[in-house]
Amino acid sequence: MFLARAPRYSPQLRASYLEISNYLRRSRRPALNRTFYAQSSPLRAPQSGQSTHEQSPVEKNASTASSVLANFKKSIEFPSPTYDFETFLTKAEPGQQVVLQGYVGNRRELSSKLAFVRLTDPTMKYSVQLVSTKKSGSFAALKAVRAHSPVVIKGTVQRKQAKDAEMAEKDPWEIVLDEVQALNEFPKDIVMTGDHVHPPKHRHLQLRSSSELRDALRFRAEARNVCRQALEQSRPAFVEIETPLLFKSTPEGAREFLVPSRKRGLAYALPQSPQQYKQILMASGIPRYYQFARCFRDEDLRADRQPEFTQLDLEMSFASGTDVMEVVEGVIRRLWSTLMPEPAPSGPFRRMPYQTAMSRYGSDKPDTRYGMEISRIDYLLPVDLVRKITPLDNPVVEVFKLEGNDNDPAATQEFITNFLDSPEGAPFNENSDGGPGIFVVDARKPLSGLQPFGFEAAEHLENSLGIEHGDLVVIQARPQNSLTGGSTALGNLRRALHAAAVAGGFKPAVPGFEFMWVVDFPLFTPAAEDSAEEPGQGGAAGFSATHHPFTAPKTAADVDLLTSADPTQATADHYDLVVNGVELGGGSRRIHDAAVQEFVFREVLRMPDHRIADFAHLLDALRAGCPPHAGFALGFDRLVAVMLGRESVRDVIAFPKMGKTGEDPMVKAPSPISEEAAKIYHLAVKESA
Ligand code: ASP
Repeated sequence: MFLARAPRYSPQLRASYLEISNYLRRSRRPALNRTFYAQSSPLRAPQSGQSTHEQSPVEKNASTASSVLANFKKSIEFPSPTYDFETFLTKAEPGQQVVLQGYVGNRRELSSKLAFVRLTDPTMKYSVQLVSTKKSGSFAALKAVRAHSPVVIKGTVQRKQAKDAEMAEKDPWEIVLDEVQALNEFPKDIVMTGDHVHPPKHRHLQLRSSSELRDALRFRAEARNVCRQALEQSRPAFVEIETPLLFKSTPEGAREFLVPSRKRGLAYALPQSPQQYKQILMASGIPRYYQFARCFRDEDLRADRQPEFTQLDLEMSFASGTDVMEVVEGVIRRLWSTLMPEPAPSGPFRRMPYQTAMSRYGSDKPDTRYGMEISRIDYLLPVDLVRKITPLDNPVVEVFKLEGNDNDPAATQEFITNFLDSPEGAPFNENSDGGPGIFVVDARKPLSGLQPFGFEAAEHLENSLGIEHGDLVVIQARPQNSLTGGSTALGNLRRALHAAAVAGGFKPAVPGFEFMWVVDFPLFTPAAEDSAEEPGQGGAAGFSATHHPFTAPKTAADVDLLTSADPTQATADHYDLVVNGVELGGGSRRIHDAAVQEFVFREVLRMPDHRIADFAHLLDALRAGCPPHAGFALGFDRLVAVMLGRESVRDVIAFPKMGKTGEDPMVKAPSPISEEAAKIYHLAVKESA
């Protein structure tokens, strides 16, 4: 039932480990283990048919082990460097004696008396040439050190003979090597050529061989410092407070991870966000809180999400949503002006209502940099055409155009055909509301290729969209009143087409960053048919909170809508920060009144009593005269990825989880529950049916 896997070391590591442990045990209890080692050592036992050597396997083990230990002893004590490389490169002088640490590169032996090797510093950013001569005595020692091994060296600085002035400036020094001390060995079986791709289970090698990955981690740390400074220097200052990771299960919205405890039947839950704790801080006399918070959501990972991620989480009391947005804009500006080549655009970020974003871009996180705006066209279309593209009665039909290149319909045709045949494009034809209608504008054809639109609609498109020879016109049907959720089919197609056009060189990439706030979200969203992924609050109302159930209605009129027949008409004081089609974070003004919060749980969302009781701590805090408050959380992984222009958050996380199920391929987590753990935590794993 329980399949605890045996630990899997690399064979080499296991071999060294066995040698040492065998040796140690043998020297403690020689008689006891002698036979065992002779028979079972996977390392040294002679294979059948193999000639026996002079030493017995036991003796061999002992001598290898003692040499392993002797090497290790040599690496325990090593001198401190006289310089870090950065300082060395500016402060070095000919004739100086230096001690430097780092990794050796590939040795180039110019003669039997002269060899060169580069020493890369521990940060792997800088390197310097080492010169080893037979005279200096380091020649043989250096030869024994394999490339990529960590070493500490002693030597004398001299000016390098450079071919040209530029080289002389870039790489001015070399070190005549006196001594080299190997601090560990780099094994033969690890390939470290520039183009070798290491698998995710060897993340350490991915990181070690990619300066881009290591730089991303450094950049991430710098970004963190900048955010911290911006918040701590504001007045009143934000206070960094850590909130517990062992939290409890509450129906905040996302699926949680449970942490079983040793107390029978009791479990913690990991926080999907510190939302409830930070609101409780607002009732605790802490007016401004922030934290780089680890959050955990057991979600499908298809959209480049991680089950655990980092948010820059903040909350302000005596504050409105507008106050929070100003603070966040300040943090973003500071980040851009400190770390990016161009500062963020000046002036307050644009604000776009959710309904506008959805109707003009088919997305609640639109990329507004490249046009392709969506407009409605169904009232102009011939019934025949509508019937061809959708089985829906009385649908909304919308349109956008993608500008072609060089007025060349053939090139546009080729681009769209390739797209629709690709894994990115093919699913758009599988929409149960009908696939997209796609037309290449060709002035040589009747009505420029838009004949199915009829004269009136074709003329309208020509005037309103300004279509030209070679452009692409895309139409798509959707049911009436379906502007809920994160996107429409046409919005997704707009985004995918643009991405494919850029990737395929059909369109140039759009530079720059366009920040905006998407505001005025609906307070509630109808429950998805398949709500397994986003469990919501588990109420019986048929809808759940769009953001989370603590978000306040926007206006007094929206408060009134809570008691109306259709609370889904209410607008939330909820704001998302969006840049270039990426949602960087979201926040809201909160319900700060316990009675209203309980009313939303009980009467509006119609949550069962026991689930409302899960929020008792929050209701208690609000009841204790909690001031109005609002907050925000910036998805920090995504923010760093956007700043660095990386497609995936995995490129800016040291140890990301992979695949749909979120495994850590390196440590192999999640791992099976052992029988012993199951006993301690009172768990039983049922056989699946
Ligand atoms: N807790 C919210 C989230 O994680 C952010 C907030 O409302 O401050 O999305």
